[in-house]
Amino acid sequence: MGYIPSVRELSYFPFLKKSQDYTRTKYSSLDALLAGEHGDRLVQSAVNRIRDALSQKRNFGEGAPDSPEELVASYALARIIVSCISDLQMIDRLTRYEAERAYYYLRNEGTDEQSWNLNFFRTESGYSRLFLYIAEELGIPISRGWLPLVDYVELVSPIREDRFRLVNRTVTTGQVQVNDDEMYELVRERIRVVLRRDLPHRVPQSLCERLGPRLGELQKAYQEQMLRNFGTIEESAFPPCIQALIQAITSGANLTHPGRFSLVSFLHNIGMERSQIADLFARAPDFDADKTMYQVGHITGSGGTEYSAPSCAAMRTTGLCVRADTLCEKVNHPLSYYKIGKKRSKPAPKESV
Ligand code: SF4
Repeated sequence: MGYIPSVRELSYFPFLKKSQDYTRTKYSSLDALLAGEHGDRLVQSAVNRIRDALSQKRNFGEGAPDSPEELVASYALARIIVSCISDLQMIDRLTRYEAERAYYYLRNEGTDEQSWNLNFFRTESGYSRLFLYIAEELGIPISRGWLPLVDYVELVSPIREDRFRLVNRTVTTGQVQVNDDEMYELVRERIRVVLRRDLPHRVPQSLCERLGPRLGELQKAYQEQMLRNFGTIEESAFPPCIQALIQAITSGANLTHPGRFSLVSFLHNIGMERSQIADLFARAPDFDADKTMYQVGHITGSGGTEYSAPSCAAMRTTGLCVRADTLCEKVNHPLSYYKIGKKRSKPAPKESV
């Protein structure tokens, strides 16, 4: 393909090699990128990007577009910032956000004058040349309506939805049928996986220190958001797997390492204080305060990395998904179960007399 995306096109897909090359030609070093008021503005733009990723709202395409330079630099800086914070959940949110963002712009290339991409060109395949360019860089061999079986299996491996399971697909001569909407979804998923793969970056301590005040600001905003999401702790809304772990402790059983990890990370993610979590372990007959505080601290970030609670798929792998109920059928993460369970357990507002 002789086509090379324009700078504006590249800036909406800052993970592409050409986009990175563009940043390198603009800035000789990170110091040059961060220098002066211009650098402050770029850092602010990166912080905004992470804040957007952490919030549930998605406002892609709204407001005045940033300059191409700012779009690419803010992407790179956002990845540096979350690497310094080293919170795995924050990293996941950012990579998901970036994939959704790319998906949004690919789906809204369009031809009308309002479109963000005036270079839009539909190829004979029915897809735009930009879409094909990105798919090629991601290693996805696209031909309309079909994907080679091997590539399909690899692409859908992180997806849990039944509709993508091979038994539910039409497979002919080593090709799997995929409609247009699904093709875009699979590209979005590949972007997420690729962007997640090399995070966190190894960032020099001196650079993290330079960004220090911004890191604290973001961590605080994130914790506040988690509290808003999960509010006060309601043990009755815990999913069956977590209730089973708590029951096991109180009945004097020793938790396996994955069990301990899942319980502590879940409780930490819903906003429980370290000391409260340790208190829970104090219900166990063989409670050792120092050992418990050390383990709780390690999982909740005292070593620099905060861990996220495992998904339902991971819980199943470790044999911790037990007593699943009807709500479990609607979720793929124990945290989602808790969030829905809490909403359901809220009493209905009283009618005024
Ligand atoms: S389906 Fe998920 S939330 Fe339900 S018990 Fe299993 S791991 Fe827990």
